[in-house]
Amino acid sequence: MYDFTDTIVLVTGAGSGIGRATAHRFAADGATVVVADIDTESGHETAGEIEDRGGDATFVEVDVSRPASIAALVNTTLNEHGRLDVAVNNAATGNRPAPITDIDEEEWHRVLDVNQTGVWAGMKHELPALFESGGGAIVNVASKAGIRGSPGRTPYGASKHGVVGLTRSAALEVADEAVRINAVCPTIVDTPALQSMTEREREQVVGNVPMGRPADPEEVANAIAWLSSDEASFVTGHALPVDGGETQQ
Ligand code: NAD
Repeated sequence: MYDFTDTIVLVTGAGSGIGRATAHRFAADGATVVVADIDTESGHETAGEIEDRGGDATFVEVDVSRPASIAALVNTTLNEHGRLDVAVNNAATGNRPAPITDIDEEEWHRVLDVNQTGVWAGMKHELPALFESGGGAIVNVASKAGIRGSPGRTPYGASKHGVVGLTRSAALEVADEAVRINAVCPTIVDTPALQSMTEREREQVVGNVPMGRPADPEEVANAIAWLSSDEASFVTGHALPVDGGETQQ
């Protein structure tokens, strides 16, 4: 457990999966969490769960593919809570599995707009608020697909390599301003997407993981919490695999 008391934490895509687990983790460690998602029902649900457990959370609707929507999210956070200390840019989407020759422009832009522009615009609007708070941390959720190739998922793979590149470049820009920026690169995580796979598909993806199992969303949330905490005070620009050893083979 880390001490995030009096800390305002913004998590995008917090209505589900890793984002929801991350919101719960920060709330359990004392933070006030801004739960942001395009899906109002699941976003309200996450905030409600946190409140039910005695934590502090508010829901704000956002579409991270629209920079103006992220600017509004940061403004709402500042109006409601007065400051921002930690931002987790987690919201993302996948692409329909297909060879690159069958990916059309619309699909390419749809994925890049959410996964890459969303993270760029997130940092663009979060950073001034973090400077104003005197420092803080950003964690961007990339993927194993940001380190390794992803056949059949070129838009997703390109977007996640982009997230790693954005993380490294932005971290260097602000390294002397008390803001650390890192990324996590999970392999397959035990979320509804994995649960909806056939047994054979599941065995195939999990079979690549040396530890022989998917990550729990909480294990990714733990890495995000560590990177956001003072315990990681000299870590910036890093893309941390959370993958049971998969990318070390
Ligand atoms: P998920 O699909 O369970 O949740 C994603 C959330 O993002 C949803 O609540 C969704 O409504 C929200 N969202 C989607 N588009 C949005 C938009 N335009 N604006 C705001 N919110 C939006 O996803 P997950 O599996 O928990 O993945 C979370 C992150 O982890 C993503 O960045 C994903 O790429 C990454 N990741 C996931 C896995 C995995 O196996 N699940 C593996 C590696 C990386």
